[in-house]
This record gives sequence, structure tokens and C-alpha cells, in this order.
Amino acid sequence: MTSMQDLKTQCFPNWCPGCGNLAIWSAFKNAAVANTWDNANTALVAGIGCHGHMVNFVKITSFEGLHGRALPVATGVKLANHDLNVFVFTGDGDCLGEGGNHFIHTCRRNHDLTILLHDNAIYALTTGQTSPASPQGFKSKSTPFGNIDNPINPVTLAIASGATFVARAFAPDIPKLSDLITRANNHKGLAVIDILQPCITFNKEYSHDFFKQNIYYLDAEHDVSNKASAFTKSLEWGLKQIPLGVFYVEEKPTYESQVSQLAKGALVKQPLVKRDISGLN
Ligand code: SF4
Repeated sequence: MTSMQDLKTQCFPNWCPGCGNLAIWSAFKNAAVANTWDNANTALVAGIGCHGHMVNFVKITSFEGLHGRALPVATGVKLANHDLNVFVFTGDGDCLGEGGNHFIHTCRRNHDLTILLHDNAIYALTTGQTSPASPQGFKSKSTPFGNIDNPINPVTLAIASGATFVARAFAPDIPKLSDLITRANNHKGLAVIDILQPCITFNKEYSHDFFKQNIYYLDAEHDVSNKASAFTKSLEWGLKQIPLGVFYVEEKPTYESQVSQLAKGALVKQPLVKRDISGLN
């Protein structure tokens, strides 16, 4: 049994009141209690950004990596002990900017990881610069005359890169996000949830109201096994047409299941064997 009390740390969140990170924190803890995720079976890895503070507010063994490097760290944790549930908390700047290359390769290898992408479409920790997810025309400290770059669509990129569970959520819808986190973690393979996370301080465009007016949930008619249709759906983004829910699911061998060295069990549980490599000189 895991209780809310078990997950409590000595730090209380210092995110701005109204920040979407608070909702993601609640949704994750609800899922952790429901599924008995604790230090014995779970590890958390975060990147750098406002999202990264998550590791200070959930009492589960965690590691905060360098900017953009959460995914390689999580890959290492999973390879060292593939019995662990490994969650990655990362932001749009962290995952799609500095860590963009890692994101593509982690998806294509189908590592058994659950990625929670806190997508506020801005670099918030550094007080508001345009990120790879910011829309065209977006004005910020780094693009005062309007962003001329096209934004990356994380859902489209994840599907195209080979992720085998791809979803989008709206952070304040906590019950749905909790369920989605559980579902993503139960999936064997690389699961990505692009979480629309309002940054009320620095991104006035993607506000709570903007999302409430424009999101909708995919219905039962959407075939999650149809990659072409998932891809087409992922391209929807506009007024009254930002789809949420599970876009794509594919059952496929995970990376870890194909590594012969892991067949005998988790590396951390295998005895260390000294090898004579002097002949390699
Ligand atoms: Fe949240 Fe934005 Fe405040 Fe960071 S700056 S804590 S993302 S509202």
C-alpha cells in the first residue's frame, strides 16, 4: 500500500498558484497511490525546467538530469534495473529543444519508459522565452517581434518516431490525467503523454480558458491501432479542435526485452563477474 502521506516530502510546491504543474503533481500522486508505486518499484527522472521541481515534491527515488538529458538518464536507469517503473518528467524546452535528438531515438528504440511531457510551450524557469512548442507569431522576451519558427507537434513527432503509446492530456483534468498515467505505465514500451500545462505567468496565449474553449476528447470511433489515422488526428490543432486522449497504441517488443544481457534478470541483481581483458592490449 502507498498512501499520500508516504509520498509527502519536506518541501511544499513553489510553483505559481494556478500553474498546471500542480495538477500534474496531483494526478501523478493519485496514480501512484492507486497503483502502489513507491521506492521499491519505481524511479523518477526529470530534466531542467519548472517541471523538474517535481522530484522535490514526490518522495520516490529520483534523479534530476542536465537540461535535455532526462531521457538518456532514464534509459540508463531502466537498463540497470528493468524491473523498475521508470517515469520521465520533462518539459517542451527540455524534451523538444535541448533533448530533441534523445526524444526521437528513445521513441524509435521502444524503451519501456513513461514520459510525462509538461508542455507549456515556453521556457518558464528562465522567465519566459520562446520554446520549440511555441506557436508562430508568439511574442516573448526572445522573440519580441513574433516567433517565425514553426512549432513542433510532440504527438505527431512521437508517432512518427516510433513511440508505441501516444496520448495528449489537459493538466487540470486531474482524474482523466491520472487514468492516462496509469494506462501509459501499464503499456509495455515507450509511452508519451503530451500534457497541455498552462503557464499562467509567462504564456498568456495558452491559458486555462484558451484550452477549455478548444480541447475535445477523441471518441470511441478513433481506432488507436491505426497509425495513419492517429497521425492525421495528431495534426489537428486549432479553434475547437485540439484532440485529447489516446492517439496510438502498438504492441511491439521493448528494447529491454531484446537485450540478451538482461534475459537472466535485472543487471543490478546479477553477480559481478571479473573478466580478463588484458588480451585486448
Ligand atoms: Fe508554472 Fe509558469 Fe510559474 Fe513555472 S513560471 S511555476 S510553469 S506558472
